[in-house]
Amino acid sequence: MTEDVIIIGGGLHGSSTAYQLAARGRRPLVIERNHVARHASGASAGGVRRLRRHRAELPLAMESLALWRRLPELLGDDCGFSPCGHLLLAETEADLAWTVERAATTRSLGYDFEEPIDRAEVKRLVPSVSNAVVGGIIARDDGFGNPLVTTAAFRRRAESLGARYLERTEVLGIDRDGDGWTVATTAGRFSAPSLVNCAGGWGERIAAMLGETMPVRMKAATMTVTARVPRFLGPVIGHVRKKLSLKQMQNGTVVIGGGYEGRVDMEAGESDVLYAGLPGNMKPVIDAFPHLARVPIVRNWTGLEGNTPDAIPYIGPSPNDPTLVHSFGYSGHGFQLGPICGVIVADLVMQGATALPIGAFQPDRFATAGTLQWGAKEGTAVEEQKAV
Ligand SMILES: Cc1cc2nc3c(=O)[nH]c(=O)nc-3n(C[C@H](O)[C@H](O)[C@H](O)COP(=O)(O)OP(=O)(O)OC[C@H]3O[C@@H](n4cnc5c(N)ncnc54)[C@H](O)[C@@H]3O)c2cc1C
Repeated sequence: MTEDVIIIGGGLHGSSTAYQLAARGRRPLVIERNHVARHASGASAGGVRRLRRHRAELPLAMESLALWRRLPELLGDDCGFSPCGHLLLAETEADLAWTVERAATTRSLGYDFEEPIDRAEVKRLVPSVSNAVVGGIIARDDGFGNPLVTTAAFRRRAESLGARYLERTEVLGIDRDGDGWTVATTAGRFSAPSLVNCAGGWGERIAAMLGETMPVRMKAATMTVTARVPRFLGPVIGHVRKKLSLKQMQNGTVVIGGGYEGRVDMEAGESDVLYAGLPGNMKPVIDAFPHLARVPIVRNWTGLEGNTPDAIPYIGPSPNDPTLVHSFGYSGHGFQLGPICGVIVADLVMQGATALPIGAFQPDRFATAGTLQWGAKEGTAVEEQKAV
């Protein structure tokens, strides 16, 4: 064996895993087809959000937030983390009822970070919001980080502790032999007793090389940045019902997400903005903040992300071989989970188990015929997901 552990994919999850393994004395090799953070981890909106998370992700999101706060100590970099809060706007009585139900359900699970607020409090926090807003729900300690800086910080710290990165190197095939895994790449063959699949939207293809069925659909979420405007936003803003996500950066620009889909080219590993749909995508933003109507857009981008049928990731050991661990399919909300999922995967590689609850994320949950139903858990109060 030449390597301790091979990690396929140099995004946030591969890099967080590399850091955790290196911090525990292993020497992982990260193999990345492009450059580090080329895909979802570089294109991300950077939301560090627990608000409206799937119930299965809540324990992980709580632990991850604790790690976000410690990143300066762990990585020597604050990763741009700003705990400015996340606020979902409500515009109808039904929206308000949802905020109350959601907070009650989350509280019944043991979490009290989601707080329904009335119109006066929304106006106090965000005075320029439309008068159509009647209230909302807020997680005051959520926030956002800088995606590129965060992934680079994990990588830098991992390398300083002994991890190695091979960029512009594609994994082409994988063999299991008596001693472990041999990975064939465009830069030769590498072997290790443990293998980690952090290949994001291509994780399904890596799993298929190993005969495992783990479906994902690639989506290209669209981001928009405006020209600088005077400060008007504190918290990151979303909406109870509508596709809306915006935050204001230190320099005054407004970064807008919302999960609008661009064009996916799976083979080329590229995506593009669908400009024809852009005015429609901006409508909820302008409805909520009419003063943004005349502010110029300065750039757009898209990012490729793998979405699972139930919109929660695959995290866990292969049912066929515990020396293979999967961690991909974060379905548009894996940035917040990056710090804790590195801990979990390192636990699984080194101890074969983790103290955190990962049963809902088991890799083979769609392997049996008849179990695959796309979108099965979306749309209910607690399970509802919001991409960005
Ligand atoms: C536009 C956008 C906005 C988002 N906003 C948020 C947000 O606000 N909050 C939040 O929590 N999450 C958000 N997300 C989701 C979050 O960014 C992702 O869940 C997370 O970055 C996924 O990280 P990853 O390491 O699993 O995947 P990636 O960053 O995609 O990394 C996987 C890597 O594997 C490599 N790879 C694939 N196949 C091979 C191969 N055969 N050989 C070698 N390497 C290979 C790829 O090149 C890629 O670099 C957003 C995503 C997008 C796209």
